[in-house]
Amino acid sequence: MIAYLDNNATTRTAPEVVEAMLPFFGDRYGNPSSMHAFGGEVAHDLEAAREKVAAFINCEPDEILFTGCATESDNTALRGAAEFLGRETKIVTTAVEHPAVLQPARRLKAMGHPEVELPVDGVGQVSLDALRDALKGSGKAIVSAMWANNETGTVFPIEEIAAMAKEHGAVMHTDAVQVAGKIPIDVKKVPVDMLSVSGHKFHAPKGVGFLYVRRGTKLKPFMLGGHQEGGRRAGTENVPYIVGLAKACELAAAGMDEECRRLGPMRDRLEAGILATCPDVRVNGDRAHRLPNTLNVSFSYIEGEAIAYRLSDLGICISTGSACASGSLDPSHVIRAMGVPFTAVHGSVRFSLSRYTEESEIDYVLERLPGVVGALRAMSPFGPGKDPTTYS
Ligand code: PLP
Repeated sequence: MIAYLDNNATTRTAPEVVEAMLPFFGDRYGNPSSMHAFGGEVAHDLEAAREKVAAFINCEPDEILFTGCATESDNTALRGAAEFLGRETKIVTTAVEHPAVLQPARRLKAMGHPEVELPVDGVGQVSLDALRDALKGSGKAIVSAMWANNETGTVFPIEEIAAMAKEHGAVMHTDAVQVAGKIPIDVKKVPVDMLSVSGHKFHAPKGVGFLYVRRGTKLKPFMLGGHQEGGRRAGTENVPYIVGLAKACELAAAGMDEECRRLGPMRDRLEAGILATCPDVRVNGDRAHRLPNTLNVSFSYIEGEAIAYRLSDLGICISTGSACASGSLDPSHVIRAMGVPFTAVHGSVRFSLSRYTEESEIDYVLERLPGVVGALRAMSPFGPGKDPTTYS
């Protein structure tokens, strides 16, 4: 049995999306920038896809830039706006952003921009007072705050954050990667200037995303070359994947309410089952403001990696909160920023559900997890009644 509960990492490509893409790997292979009618037909398909993506977030088609991934969207937003506005522009972000925002922000700092990473509280919420202080008298500023956190599912009050940024004259960007398909996005209601989305987080293929850029927002292009995307993102558009992305947007818009109604209770059943069967567990994140598909828990005294590897042997796919896979044993910057106690910080794991998650997968995890946790705790030098200082 496979229980795939790692949907915040990536999702299954929807069969309807694959079907929509197929003609573009066959006869419809023209280049949308070509002058001939064969390419022109594909240009028409590209613009039809742009209209569908624009409808998904309630913007105008010319406000959508197609990109290769959300990492590119985030880099384009921060570096493109910073280059336009100049070196004195302050970069304000949060301590729990994805590296696709934190790393460009830190690069901009190394290039001379003042940079602030706002702290978060114990449930991963950013303080609006801290944001106000960071923006006070700062002159030009770019604010980049994620809409929802990929590790904990904590949802930021993005309308209020964006309103405050705009009040102070800042350019406002949000990384909405984990929100697409889970919370309706309406840029007429949320005053962001830029917003990043990635296709593979909501059943489009990997390798396609978009950046929304509100009309009037000034950016220097990040990718230089040809005149594609109105001269704002060079490179031949990945038409098959863009058509797939548009289909995924349509499917998400049509099924979002039902999916959230189904996933929330399923996630809550998983959470309740874990809390009932495993002692010394804490839930990480803001349970009152959380994505319906995400559960992050810390098992005290054991390593998240060990749990994930043991579950993987049983066919259960989850993520840890740590950066171990990237060659570091440091615990997750998100969990650390939340001030999770030392005994629990290394033991965080994330379960994330999708449209294709079935109740039987939850049953299977609840059946196997307590045994895995118990076995690892039996081997751990840490825990109630154990004195780790006696181990050399
Ligand atoms: N931002 C967030 C919040 C993410 O969760 C991810 C992927 O995990 C990214 C950005 C990067 O997305 P991509 O894989 O499309 O580059």
